[in-house]
Amino acid sequence: MSDDDPARIVVLVVGVIHGNEQAGLDVVDELRAMAPDDIPANVDLYLMPALNVDGLVMNKRQNANGVDLNRNFPYKWGPIAQLGNWEYAGPSGASEPETQAMVAYVEELRPDLTVWFHQDAFSIAPSTGPDKLVREEYARLTGLPLEGVPGGTYTGVAATWLRRTYEDDTSFIVELGSSLATGEALTHARAVLSVSQILP
Ligand SMILES: [Zn+2]
Repeated sequence: MSDDDPARIVVLVVGVIHGNEQAGLDVVDELRAMAPDDIPANVDLYLMPALNVDGLVMNKRQNANGVDLNRNFPYKWGPIAQLGNWEYAGPSGASEPETQAMVAYVEELRPDLTVWFHQDAFSIAPSTGPDKLVREEYARLTGLPLEGVPGGTYTGVAATWLRRTYEDDTSFIVELGSSLATGEALTHARAVLSVSQILP
């Protein structure tokens, strides 16, 4: 399994990395339920409902070790706080089994596009990089404002790790709202597939 056919677009969707932000599961479900004709012929679609399975079961942001997996990735990892803090980054970069598994998986899969779902800031951060137009189009298709999320410490972030490690790959966070309106999960599912066709 590797992305060695340039005509194929490998798309990876991660529904849940913060275990108490579960709306991405509905987007994954919509993608899974899609008729083959609704998926662009050049797309290989990989669905990961939850990277943080323990957090999902416990309805907790962190994993079972109390680590915020979205601060644990090995690009510009930095120590954040202590066990018990909402953004605890773990003892070292990629200290957590979930992070290690994701690093190995991405190394093998080499997705062209990876979308990570979160809640509930209802936004997508703008980019000044090569994925600027992709994010703008995603925002247009879904109605998400193009705005950054204030108030956190953004080291060891999974989406950033992926795009900085594999510079040909597009990887961004989608912050859904606190809940999904009727039809909104399908709108996001379609947007993921749509922007896969305009990657830089
Ligand atoms: Zn989150």
